[in-house]
Amino acid sequence: MTREKETRLTIQIKDIDNVAVAVRDLPAGTRVEGGVITLDDIPQAHKIALTDIPQGGDIIRHGVTLGYAKAPIPVGSWINEHMLDLPESPSVENLPYGTNIVPTEDLPAPDRTTWLGYRNKVGPAGTRNLLGIVTTVQCAAGVVKVAVERIKRELLPKYPNVDGVVAVTHPYGCGVAINAPMAPIPIRAITNVIRHPNFGGEIMVVGLGCEKLTYDRILPPEDITPDNCLTLQDWKGHDAMMDAILAMADKKLQNLNRRRREELPLSELLIGMQCGGSDAFSGITANPSAGYAADMLVRGGGTVLFSEVTEVRDGVQMLAARCPDAHTRDRLAQEMKWYDDYLEAGGVDRDANPTPGNKKGGLANIVEKAMGSIAKSGTSPIVEVLSPAQQPTRHGLIYAATPASDIVCGPSQVASGIGLQVFMTGRGTPYGLDIAPVIKVCSRDEMKEHWFDMIDISAGGVATGRATIAQVGTEIFHMILDVASGLKQPYSDQYGFQNDMCIFNPAPIT
Ligand code: CA
Repeated sequence: MTREKETRLTIQIKDIDNVAVAVRDLPAGTRVEGGVITLDDIPQAHKIALTDIPQGGDIIRHGVTLGYAKAPIPVGSWINEHMLDLPESPSVENLPYGTNIVPTEDLPAPDRTTWLGYRNKVGPAGTRNLLGIVTTVQCAAGVVKVAVERIKRELLPKYPNVDGVVAVTHPYGCGVAINAPMAPIPIRAITNVIRHPNFGGEIMVVGLGCEKLTYDRILPPEDITPDNCLTLQDWKGHDAMMDAILAMADKKLQNLNRRRREELPLSELLIGMQCGGSDAFSGITANPSAGYAADMLVRGGGTVLFSEVTEVRDGVQMLAARCPDAHTRDRLAQEMKWYDDYLEAGGVDRDANPTPGNKKGGLANIVEKAMGSIAKSGTSPIVEVLSPAQQPTRHGLIYAATPASDIVCGPSQVASGIGLQVFMTGRGTPYGLDIAPVIKVCSRDEMKEHWFDMIDISAGGVATGRATIAQVGTEIFHMILDVASGLKQPYSDQYGFQNDMCIFNPAPIT
């Protein structure tokens, strides 16, 4: 009894909300905050009605309408995903902009303003020093993967300043409609990943020789040289081919081995944020804490990408309010519209997004998921909007349009040049990237206890009252700088958990 009185049982986010979320499993008959008594067993993270809600009445959380009650819902009821009708998604026409611009001096000030990175001639600095071997086509992937294992074994030990060798293999390159209107998206992803800040400007591209994605589509003429490009069909037999790849890699490793970390301002740091396996706590704990860290980085001059179109679509008006000018607002609307059309062409809409795991975690629909997802962007103005895999030209908070799928969002942000990704999860995922380290932040303490040696930071204390968003946000900020500086390795890096380079290809395959 005493413990129950001391521990928070539910969380109501905004005063106008008519639902709250259960901090833990609540049996029927539990008296919670506000004197409401639960009518049903309420699973952890799920919603409980704080008032009687009539049929057709708004169900409000995060201060927004998540949906409309399909039948009357008495106070104290469990509200699950089957009890709501989804509202129309907000229009992207004539969105008001510039109405919620937080001045830089109102963002939380970072107590560290430098980090240790690998400076590049152009663009952001590297967080790792890697040899990246990029294929033009999946046909070359098998050879490159075997070659990379040999390079790691036979060459890498000679170059102690190089952190690793990455085979950048992907399904694109041939058997595709290379001139289709959407083809620039995957082609841009491959073009830009060659220039990833962690590859230090060393270009190594391996093609087959008969593919549609020719070198001139991904490299400027001056970079198409025998030092940078290797064509498998040019070599007589297996041994000669392997020897040629290893010889090219050896030269690149010599150059990379001369790189050293140096103290750099936060303006040299570019990171990405995404979430996956979210639950109803994600929007209360992990994502707002990540948003706080994003605000600290932006205040310090750094650059932060957030993405996942279907998970911001229902809050587009909130993002437009943070665009300082009409051009940025128009770019945001353009990317949302493109995705609406892309989904419609596939015969679905944004509600195809929540997964069974999301729903088990208390997220009723895409509106509720979006409200939690947007929280990771913090509060600063959106200074630029990017198409998938584009590289930023500004510093600050940037919206980089990508699918919400974890394994596609990650590579898209990598192509945009992120040196690190912060990944929030409620349900848990071993997700990782090979080009940029991934820091895992979970939304509940139970998740951290379950995967104690796979989750880097728990934001669960924000729900129980043990910690504040500012405290967890500051912890994430320091972890970002430590990992970016090579002082710490997140778990996914330690274990070598690395998902494939699933680049976004909305164009036809032939
Ligand atoms: Ca995701």
